[in-house]
Amino acid sequence: MKIGFIGLGNMGLPMALNLLKAGHQVIGFDLVNTQLDALAAAGGSIAPSAQAAAQDVEVLISMLPASKHVEGLYLGEAGLLECTDPKTLLIDCSTISPKVAQTVAAKARSAGFAMIDAPVSGGTAGAQAGTLTFMVGGDGKDVERARPLLEAMGKNIFHAGASGAGQTVKVCNNMLLGIQMLGTSEALRLGIANGMDPKVLSDIMAKSSGRNWALELYNPCPGVMENVPASKGYAGGFGVDLMLKDLGLATENAAALDANIPLGQLAQELYEAHSKAGNGQLDFSSVFHLKQKD
Ligand code: NAD
Repeated sequence: MKIGFIGLGNMGLPMALNLLKAGHQVIGFDLVNTQLDALAAAGGSIAPSAQAAAQDVEVLISMLPASKHVEGLYLGEAGLLECTDPKTLLIDCSTISPKVAQTVAAKARSAGFAMIDAPVSGGTAGAQAGTLTFMVGGDGKDVERARPLLEAMGKNIFHAGASGAGQTVKVCNNMLLGIQMLGTSEALRLGIANGMDPKVLSDIMAKSSGRNWALELYNPCPGVMENVPASKGYAGGFGVDLMLKDLGLATENAAALDANIPLGQLAQELYEAHSKAGNGQLDFSSVFHLKQKD
């Protein structure tokens, strides 16, 4: 298939490379030239603009930071809904507000497009290995049309429900992840304060009831695990500011629905303090070093 890919960052680039590996043609666009060069080096083509990447392709995939970027791309000035052939299947993989996803998909439908929201879980390692989990919202037939491509980039493809449902699952999942990372860090810090070796502590808790993804696969304490951001100066991975964005989506969504999420709100405050202390670009597991307020 001929695929347009917009947003070739930490996640988008390895996802696009997996589409190339699966034998598809990829024409990509990003605002950062080094990302475009990396796509070209792997055999992809480079477009001079988002509009150009969306011309004459069967499927267009976007992987952008936040709601405003997705709204701008599809609905803004020279938005893709105005200048793309409606036969193109639109797949937005960015993590954005469920409400914005519903609005963009409804406008896309009115303009004759099929569009699904397909946010992902699995981090940059999952994007590289092609083992992402996709949480998809939209019509079943559109999900089936997208499935072969999603399978080239991921291992688990879930149809969560109508437009926006993929984003709802993603927001719930990331709120839980943010809370889990804080809890895991706190438990490790307490053990270390008691003189425990964090690796011994982690190995025991990973086989006990405190077991969780952050502890077992993404340990926040430097040196406990190889090949995780904590052991690489918290570089790469999933940024504190992206986690903060997702917690903002959760608290905004909860406020609109009067849902009770006290831990989600507290997590947002703690990641915000960590970001304001200058750590916004580090991986979110760096909350292990969160400084307590005086
Ligand atoms: P990133 O900041 O590394 O990449 C985003 C890319 O989009 C950048 O390269 C940027 O230049 C580009 N971009 C921004 N505006 C653009 C525009 N108008 N046109 C073209 N390109 C544009 O972010 P990421 O880590 O790749 O995350 C992308 C999305 O995936 C976010 O919504 C994030 O929440 C979500 N996500 C990230 C992870 C992770 O582990 N990093 C995991 C799951 C989901």
